[in-house]
Amino acid sequence: MEGSYFFDPTILREYDIRGIVDDTLTQETAYAVGRAFGSCVVAAGGDQVALGYDGRLTSPDLAAAVVDGFIDCGLHVKRINMGPTPMLSFAIRHLETGSGLMVTGSHNPPDYNGFKMALAGKPFFGGDIQRLGEIAAAADYAAGEGSVEDIDIREDYVAVLAQEHEPLRMARIAWDPGNGAGGEVLNMLCARMPGHHHVVNGIVDGTFPGHHPDPTVAENLVDLQNHVAEFDCELGIAFDGDADRIGVVDGRGRILWADQLMMLFAEDVLRDNPGATIIADVKSSQVLFDEIARHGGRPVMWKTGHSLIKSKMAETKAPLAGEMSGHIFFADRYFGFDDGIYAAVRLLSLLERRGTTLAELLDDLPSVCNTPELRFPCAEDRKFAVIEEVEARLSRAGADVSGIDGVRVNTADGWWLLRASNTQDVLVARCEARDDDGLARLKQDLSDQLAESGIEAPEGL
Ligand SMILES: [Zn+2]
Repeated sequence: MEGSYFFDPTILREYDIRGIVDDTLTQETAYAVGRAFGSCVVAAGGDQVALGYDGRLTSPDLAAAVVDGFIDCGLHVKRINMGPTPMLSFAIRHLETGSGLMVTGSHNPPDYNGFKMALAGKPFFGGDIQRLGEIAAAADYAAGEGSVEDIDIREDYVAVLAQEHEPLRMARIAWDPGNGAGGEVLNMLCARMPGHHHVVNGIVDGTFPGHHPDPTVAENLVDLQNHVAEFDCELGIAFDGDADRIGVVDGRGRILWADQLMMLFAEDVLRDNPGATIIADVKSSQVLFDEIARHGGRPVMWKTGHSLIKSKMAETKAPLAGEMSGHIFFADRYFGFDDGIYAAVRLLSLLERRGTTLAELLDDLPSVCNTPELRFPCAEDRKFAVIEEVEARLSRAGADVSGIDGVRVNTADGWWLLRASNTQDVLVARCEARDDDGLARLKQDLSDQLAESGIEAPEGL
């Protein structure tokens, strides 16, 4: 396994490495990832690395091959074994390794798997990931005789989560970790918290027998909604397959999308951090940015992508950031990485302090008419060109356009967004207006722009 290795080019993505196991991603791939990333750790002056893996059936074997790669680089590996991605992020800080690698397929189907990495305290993405491919192709590897140590940090992690939790007035909470890697630590956490905790799909099972582990898709929240109703819970909380993302429903089963959750978190964080910068991605509601400003904060709209958001947070020293995908990052009393379980505990504490139910808070949020995130296919060689064409036409017409990530257009009715996904051959659209008529006009504007670039408008537009 010492020689050159050529990755399938489709697996080296913007924020992670991901492929289909035994097809585009094999044991050999995993060794090459360990060896190439390990070489980056050594080049950055590191001598140790943390490693974790999710609950997928293929994860332990892939993790073992990564460890072999690390050892052949001369690294000391602190292996925390199976758990959610945020537990690995916690381990990087708690065990002071600086760098770490998580074997995870996140929310993808069971035959997928992949790798997320952090190098010397920073997200590892974009050009960094392309560089792994070059290192492996050239077999330009560090060499040495490393070692491995198993460390169980679950108790330490759960203790830090539980310490954020204030005694609960509310009695009943429903949880759905979706048979993902967060199940085990969630059960440990529930055992330490007061109240009645009703967990569905809590057994870690890489075949995902309950549903697809992606809480941003409404149909994946049906189990949770049923559980809330059956046990008369005040709210329900779900996670994605590796528990770095959160999904929430209130006591009436209504979904709170991430930008609505962020409105609640922003107010909470700004109370302790007056005037702070709060970041949300370009897909988020204008109401969120307005609410941040109304509570005295400095709203910053930024590009979608968890690595990009993390970098912007570090740059602006923002205590809170969030994405529509359900990645929520607290640097206020926490480490600044996205942790769905930590966000859940913060939500429970917030409700306790406010002395109210989530349903009441949802009723009080400003109401707007908006579409969900609409995703539709677009050829890889066209997706960025379409955005450029639309932006050029709008600029010529004198429209109010923000080009932070794709085009976000402000009109008298509200706004619409069109952006190209960095990770898939899809375009993403969203519209938001104050009323239904305005929303209809925005949808028409966006459809017209798509038509001018030869793209058929998706369903829902
Ligand atoms: Zn995830």
